[in-house]
Amino acid sequence: MNTNKENNSLSAKTIYDLTSFTHLDYPEHLACIVWFSGCNMRCDYCYNKDIVFAKNGKYSPDDILTFLKTRVNLLEAVVLSGGEASSYDLISFCRKIRELGFKIKLDTNGTNFTHIKELLELKLLDYIALDYKAPESKFTQITHSNKYDEFSKTLDLLINTKFNFETRTTIHNELLDADDINKIILDLKQRGYNRPYYLQEFLDTGSNIGNITAPKKKFNSSLLLKEIEIVFR
Ligand code: SF4
Repeated sequence: MNTNKENNSLSAKTIYDLTSFTHLDYPEHLACIVWFSGCNMRCDYCYNKDIVFAKNGKYSPDDILTFLKTRVNLLEAVVLSGGEASSYDLISFCRKIRELGFKIKLDTNGTNFTHIKELLELKLLDYIALDYKAPESKFTQITHSNKYDEFSKTLDLLINTKFNFETRTTIHNELLDADDINKIILDLKQRGYNRPYYLQEFLDTGSNIGNITAPKKKFNSSLLLKEIEIVFR
């Protein structure tokens, strides 16, 4: 039973697009990516703005399930991404994906805590990539949302339940410098996070929500604390 009243139901054509094959987005598994329309944040560096501002998309969940039936024994996993997939009630969709035998990964900003907790309790997720957008002091500035507390609860839940997940941050020297990333590193350490922390450079595709360009000064990774394992992507 879904108890998250704020979640949208998964109706027709809520899926913006489908990437039918990837070997990069689910660790050690061949997967497809389901891109959900819409997001509850407006991160300055987001280059998926067409997805973020979309109300609908090309596919319904049933369309995706029809596709998945043709990929049984060819793909191993499904990545639920977006936009913010957890803004939708994913329970029925995940159950049907599970029945076909696929693993499920959720890419998320972690701000729909109640629904993510529910999906975990129902054992409908196998892996999560959780964005740690910014330290608390800069969270609203970067994301244009006021959802740090929700994100923080999700992070604690994943750590405390020892769920299989990773956390990651997009770096842009003029938005988040080494001091900011060090605040995140210290926070992760203090919460008991003992997995790799992934840093990915801002990708200048020429179009993003904040109309930002590549930073003029390169990010100085030598200033980062060594409290946890850091991996650059
Ligand atoms: S980068 Fe930010 S705005 Fe873009 S999809 Fe992710 S959470 Fe939403």
